[in-house]
Amino acid sequence: MTLIEFVDAIVGDLECSCSTIEEMMEKYDVDFGVEVNEVEEELGARHNLERCAGCDWWMDASELAHDYDGWCGYCEDCRPAST
Ligand SMILES: [Zn+2]
Repeated sequence: MTLIEFVDAIVGDLECSCSTIEEMMEKYDVDFGVEVNEVEEELGARHNLERCAGCDWWMDASELAHDYDGWCGYCEDCRPAST
């Protein structure tokens, strides 16, 4: 399994969950050297999947952006209330 194959395989598991990359590595028995941040980068680049900085849930990057303000990294439930 390559990094890309791994990333493509875990998207379905991660989406709308708060599983960690480490858990996925265990589940898929990843036996190649890979850093968590490399996996996160590929998830974002290939699948637009990002992790909310507040609740740690994985979701589409568009959910983590303000309509008016752009990227904030927090989902609707976590982002600080704005006026
Ligand atoms: Zn959140």
